[in-house]
Amino acid sequence: MRELLLVRFGEIFLKGLNRPYFIRSLVRKIRYAVKDQGAEVWMHDGRIFVSGFSDLETCIDRVTRVFGVHSVCPAVEMPKEDFDAICSQAIEMMRGLRGTFKVAARRSDKRYPLDSPAINEEAGYRILQALPELRVDVHEPDHLMNIEIRDHAYLYVRVIPAVGGMPVGTNGRATLLLSGGIDSPVAGWMIAKRGVQINAVHFHSYPYTSDRAKEKVLDLARKLSYSCCGIKVHVVPFTEIQMQIHEKCPEEYTTLIMRRFMMRIAERIARQEGCEALITGESIGQVASQTMEALGTTDSVVSMPVFRPLIGFDKSEIIEVARRIDTLEISSLPYEDCCTVFTPRHPATRPKMEKILEGEARLEMETLIADALSGVEVISV
Ligand code: ATP
Ligand code: MG
Repeated sequence: MRELLLVRFGEIFLKGLNRPYFIRSLVRKIRYAVKDQGAEVWMHDGRIFVSGFSDLETCIDRVTRVFGVHSVCPAVEMPKEDFDAICSQAIEMMRGLRGTFKVAARRSDKRYPLDSPAINEEAGYRILQALPELRVDVHEPDHLMNIEIRDHAYLYVRVIPAVGGMPVGTNGRATLLLSGGIDSPVAGWMIAKRGVQINAVHFHSYPYTSDRAKEKVLDLARKLSYSCCGIKVHVVPFTEIQMQIHEKCPEEYTTLIMRRFMMRIAERIARQEGCEALITGESIGQVASQTMEALGTTDSVVSMPVFRPLIGFDKSEIIEVARRIDTLEISSLPYEDCCTVFTPRHPATRPKMEKILEGEARLEMETLIADALSGVEVISV
């Protein structure tokens, strides 16, 4: 007999020829998530199992965060020949529960002496005898005692919902503009959940922004990396660009011009990294640089699609997700971001393109971008 986790994945994505590819990828991601737990992960009979872990709850926590996993069931695998032992184990797994239950047997081994209705009836009867505080309800039971007869018998009661989504890497790659704020880690997480491998670009304005601000961003990337299976962070030196903008461009346009630089640089890094899209944490109207007109001016400098998964979210909704994915605490640390260093007093909310282009014409655009790119520090977390 051994304890294991039975991993369930969504059926929607599994139709057709991609199914084996999807499942192999999911097995690799689960292995990555539990590699420090001493656990073993394998595929058998069209399903994924995890066993040999040192701590069940830690292992559940890890596996339920892997994109592509829809639920996890702590199960017991035992020889199927001894039906008495199966019933005793079922009783042990139901002990301590209250309310109603039903046994749900499935038998893929058709030579097994008892068929599914017979297993339901006999196991149900023995559970009731041993645990009289429980009642049977075949329509809407509080607990479902699953007994599956395959090459072995598998028993499980608890079904723990997981994150869902698709395995990272099954839907291409994208580059996340990662600040130290609340929004961008959430945006990256949401796109990664759809099976996209993420790498990150962070703009750093040393000494206006401190080393601790940079560490904070790396900590955020580390948090995300559990779900995203590792993240490469490109830290771009941004001080010179910001100083030049501050010096030479109209004040109300400095933020927008800076954001356009960020997009251009991020796009170049994205291309080097084989990415097909950019991701930002913007949402309509959150700040002056996120009015629809302003978003239009930042979009227009790149030719890649820009994904803004938070576009229709209120701040409170974003905070809720940040809490759930455990990035909120780090994001709330007080270190300054480069966006807050030279903030204009009256940023343009209805920007005029001529003004932006006029400002940009005063800058050595290509040299500034090339210099920033040559100073990029790459950190894998
Ligand atoms: P966040 O909470 O993610 O910092 P925000 O509400 O502060 O977002 P802005 O500062 O206007 O919004 O930035 C909008 C988006 O631009 C961010 O979500 C992020 O994707 C990107 N961004 C801003 N600052 C940086 C930076 N220093 N490095 C990389 N990307 C950045
Ligand atoms: Mg920010």
